Amino acid sequence: MTISDTGPATTTVQDEQAYILQTYIRPDFVLERGEGVYLYDTEGRQYLDFVAGIAVNALGYGDAEVAQIVAEQATRLIHVSNLYHTAPATSLAKQLLATAPYFNRVYFSNSGTEAIEACIKFSRKFARTFYGEGKTTIVAFDGSFHGRTMGSVALTATDKYRLPFMPVMPDVRFARYNDLDSIAEAITAEVCAVVIEPVQGEGGLRVASPAFLQAVRDLCDQHRALLVVDEIQCGMGRTGTLWAHQHAQLRPDLMAIAKPLAGGMPIGAVLLNQCVADAIQPGDHGTTFGGNPFVTAVAQAVLRRISDPAFLSHVGAVSNYLDESLHDLATDYPERILELRGCGLMRGIKINGAAAEVRMRGHDVGLLVATAGADVIRLLPPLIITPQHVDEALAKLRQIL
Ligand SMILES: *Cc1c(COP(=O)(O)O)cnc(C)c1O
Repeated sequence: MTISDTGPATTTVQDEQAYILQTYIRPDFVLERGEGVYLYDTEGRQYLDFVAGIAVNALGYGDAEVAQIVAEQATRLIHVSNLYHTAPATSLAKQLLATAPYFNRVYFSNSGTEAIEACIKFSRKFARTFYGEGKTTIVAFDGSFHGRTMGSVALTATDKYRLPFMPVMPDVRFARYNDLDSIAEAITAEVCAVVIEPVQGEGGLRVASPAFLQAVRDLCDQHRALLVVDEIQCGMGRTGTLWAHQHAQLRPDLMAIAKPLAGGMPIGAVLLNQCVADAIQPGDHGTTFGGNPFVTAVAQAVLRRISDPAFLSHVGAVSNYLDESLHDLATDYPERILELRGCGLMRGIKINGAAAEVRMRGHDVGLLVATAGADVIRLLPPLIITPQHVDEALAKLRQIL
């Protein structure tokens, strides 16, 4: 990949390194625009995007309806704070609750990690209100990722995300994912909540079995602990059902969602049942921006489009095609590919070698992929991809491998 020495792209890359805190290592091209499932850089190079802004851009780029609502709502009303009523947040909440009738209330935040923080606070307040002191422990799992703020980081298993910032929030226990004995041991009377990703994202694309999720539900009931599902990455159609826990007919007490909900605008939300809502009083929690009319107006359209049964059956069909294609790839490269993980349009390819190298090589052939840990390639395409895009991505992956 070559970029002209004096062009604006070079300036941007150099200035980024000089002026922006280096918490990410970015490749040396500058993305300028997107259309459908393709991104284009300032040199006009095309990239087939199997990252989708980390599972955010479910409807791809340049969606006409999203663009229209952004423009209209920007002129009508962007923000007034949560001190006042506005219609879009309430409409979106009604729409969200209609998709999962076991939830009764919605809390809006600005990001995934803030949705998790809200779940932590609501769970602790619930336990304190109804069961008294001492029920403050939260159980999370190995391989989990719940965000970067101090509460979410405490629930995130990967040491490098947590240990440099110790002490983080106390009273957290980790159990082993899909391990019944481990979770049975972890859930005791002091536990107020269990937080689980039905499909792990960042932590390596493992899928919780329906039997495991049901067992966790039963253990939570026995010990009066709340079950919190983190669907920030796996929710909103990515696994073929609107919510990933619906594959297991699970009834969680709280659900955190975020990434794709507002088509690229920052948003997070918690759906919770009435029992938990009963413990929360005005003033217990809050946010300046959360649920503002601009973001929630866009989210209504995104949710309506994705929850359409025809859209979800498209995701199911193209997921099956991706699944078959990945199995063919694994058969053809038995030494390179060690394991296929994930489900729906959320896939992991565990390779013999460095996933970061595959990601880098992808830039040269015009394919964007993510990673999950050192040796897993993570595929998170926009949900609008077609079998032709799958063929194109797999051909490029073959070129790389
Ligand atoms: C991305 C992610 C988060 C954190 O969301 P942010 O919006 O980055 O704060 C939490 N949980 C899961 C499963 C995620 O994928």
